[in-house]
Amino acid sequence: MAGIPLSCKDRTNRDGIIYTKNLGLSAMEIQFARGFIPEEEAEELKEVAGKCDIELFVHSPYYINLTGDKRNVEMSMEKIRKSVHLADIMGAKVVTIHTGFYGSLSKKKAMERMAKNLRMLRDEFKKEGIEVPIGVETMGKKEVFGSIDEVIELCKRVHGIVPALDVAHIHARGNGCLKEKEDFQKIFDKVGELEMEHYLIHLTGVKYDKGGEMYHVPIRKGDMPVIKLMECIVENNYNVTIISESPILEHDAVYSQILLDRAMEMLK
Ligand SMILES: [Zn+2]
Repeated sequence: MAGIPLSCKDRTNRDGIIYTKNLGLSAMEIQFARGFIPEEEAEELKEVAGKCDIELFVHSPYYINLTGDKRNVEMSMEKIRKSVHLADIMGAKVVTIHTGFYGSLSKKKAMERMAKNLRMLRDEFKKEGIEVPIGVETMGKKEVFGSIDEVIELCKRVHGIVPALDVAHIHARGNGCLKEKEDFQKIFDKVGELEMEHYLIHLTGVKYDKGGEMYHVPIRKGDMPVIKLMECIVENNYNVTIISESPILEHDAVYSQILLDRAMEMLK
């Protein structure tokens, strides 16, 4: 799940990991939306996660713009650097980022600029021996860079970065395009080009209008048929990590696990 479980008494990442384990779940996303953690805490989280057998992921601060003016881009790159360094200490698997806006740029130009900046970061990390990849999130608002096709194109241009498949955002951006199992299959077919062994998926219910995503809601309050996503995953035996980004975090994380189990039962 994304962040510390709501019903976790001590609002710390450490207790969040333990709580996640006790719910029978296997992954947690450490969020830097409200600020970074000290390196000592990152080291501690690695240890706790290792003991609990919980895989860690990281979400960098939300406001990042790799296409803005020089100062904007430099600040954004600094946030990504900091997130990746902490993720490296934590032994996290992927660092999810939002890449930014088109602004006054054409979509093509925005893509070129993002690719250039991400390549620069990737080379820096490579030199430092850091292997945790940047995950570019599919974004729900149409005015923001990050359609599924753009994310895949960016991953092709910058070797070593991966997509963070927020299916609710894809659904919202496509005016509720995910209705059948085949619609989810199309997503996996598209990312298949990247030949990845593991997929990071973000999941929530979502409300949308013609501009795309408006806000996240619990899975049951949204109109995306999550069971069909699970069937698609089970049928193809995809190696996935599903992170709940729902406003009712752990409830929907557990609910997702139930749906996944149900899909497995149905296929028996
Ligand atoms: Zn995000």
